[in-house]
Amino acid sequence: MEEDAHKIVIIGAGPAGLTAAFQLSKRGETATVLEADSVVGGISRTAEREGWRFDIGGHRFFTKVPEVEAVWHEILPDEDFLLRPRLSRIYYDGKFFDYPLKAMNALRGLGIKEAVLCVLSYAWARVRPPKDQTSFEGWTSARFGRRLYHTFFKTYTEKLWGVPATEIKADWAAQRIKNLSLFNAIVNAMLPRRNQKDITSLIEEFQYPKYGPGMMWERATELVMAAGTKVIFNAAVTRIEHEHGRAVGVVTESGGVETRYEATEVISSMPISALLKAMSPAPPPEVIAAANGLSYRDFLTIALVVPESAGFPDNWIYIHAPDVKMGRIQNFGSWSPYLVKEGRTCLGLEYFVFEGDELWCAPDAELVELGKRELAKLGLVKPEVVEAGYVVRMPKAYPMYNDTYKANVDTMRAWLAANAPNVYPVGRNGMHKYNNQDHSMYTAMLSVENIYGADHDIWNVNVEAEYHEEKKAAPAAS
Ligand SMILES: Cc1cc2nc3c(=O)[nH]c(=O)nc-3n(C[C@H](O)[C@H](O)[C@H](O)COP(=O)(O)OP(=O)(O)OC[C@H]3O[C@@H](n4cnc5c(N)ncnc54)[C@H](O)[C@@H]3O)c2cc1C
Repeated sequence: MEEDAHKIVIIGAGPAGLTAAFQLSKRGETATVLEADSVVGGISRTAEREGWRFDIGGHRFFTKVPEVEAVWHEILPDEDFLLRPRLSRIYYDGKFFDYPLKAMNALRGLGIKEAVLCVLSYAWARVRPPKDQTSFEGWTSARFGRRLYHTFFKTYTEKLWGVPATEIKADWAAQRIKNLSLFNAIVNAMLPRRNQKDITSLIEEFQYPKYGPGMMWERATELVMAAGTKVIFNAAVTRIEHEHGRAVGVVTESGGVETRYEATEVISSMPISALLKAMSPAPPPEVIAAANGLSYRDFLTIALVVPESAGFPDNWIYIHAPDVKMGRIQNFGSWSPYLVKEGRTCLGLEYFVFEGDELWCAPDAELVELGKRELAKLGLVKPEVVEAGYVVRMPKAYPMYNDTYKANVDTMRAWLAANAPNVYPVGRNGMHKYNNQDHSMYTAMLSVENIYGADHDIWNVNVEAEYHEEKKAAPAAS
């Protein structure tokens, strides 16, 4: 091998890691992908149990980045994509409400008395806006009034993050809800339909690989392996060795056995906190403290097989009822007929948890019973029609935006830039960014270009430009 040949090690076979490998293969370059798990796709995998395929939360494919769109279609042929209609509603107080919220639909559904109270509460928020708008509660109440905030935002958001809405940073609301307010929503509802187009386009339809997002990443793996890249499973990275201001080796552990991979560059989609803690020699205590300061929300899904007739037309339903723990229900039959079979559908009940808490540790059989009980409580599905149930746990599904996350990420970035600039953090937990697949992919694509001399600032990838459809449409998380 030539002296100056690249030995690129990629950590993680999720969307970011596999996109990096795919882009490298187009340059005729190979890499070694190290994946801790035994499957590809990361959070965007499609789990398979006894022939049922389901996502970790349904994954829509939409993007404003043409380069990302192009890669999707280079990996999968057009016939493997479905164009799916989107329907998602909020279930609250035994009623369904349109989601994204439509002012007239919401006010009508609440009944005349409650609607009037909501509008008055909104008017009050205009006159006397909450003083502290740095929290999710203050920010959202200012735009919708406290009453609508309590009905449509507080419960779900607190379930999602596991902390009071007063402790959730407005950053998150600003990213997901953007410029939506009750006033904008009412004005929008009154506009002729054609003027609403740019707000709702792309959101009402989305692309979806017919066997789920995992299909994309399974195919990407085949393509990069065919081009000579190694994808090594059950290979959790535990150490990144650095010397003289560069990373030089990556060490994995599998069944107590360590393996070392020499590296000229490291593209890392493992959580940035774990990356810094794996650097050897170790960074100074303040950098380790910054790594320890990042927090995550974990996720589990209970997939229940039910007759198709027990499903619903929605792709997913937000559950805003405080008396159940469930946050959202997916109906995978509505995502793709190829995910389900034999006149049945598969419902994915989503629970936001902390790794190690009561739900996370509960045995699968107990969780399946919990899922059945909660569906019955909501009046959505009778327990006796449930034919089978499976549980999938996903640690670190959501990077949390706590008070100190920005400062902590900056500390880690600065240390990496000074001590191992050939380590390229990419992706969701890799950069601690609450993002979608396209953002993960794009940061990986730009990092590959940086390896070959470009100078993209991947920390400043312009999310606004890429996601402007979401501006008015996404009060809750994906
Ligand atoms: C409920 C939910 C719904 C979502 N819906 C959508 C949607 O509709 N559309 C959309 O585009 N996006 C959606 N997303 C976001 C999407 O899942 C992520 O943006 C995407 O998977 C991030 O890709 P990634 O490669 O950056 O990280 P990940 O998917 O987290 O992949 C990282 C990989 O690194 C591996 N890894 C971690 N640590 C190590 C280690 N030490 N050594 C080796 N390997 C390691 C992991 O096992 C994993 O395979 C959703 C996310 C959630 C939680």
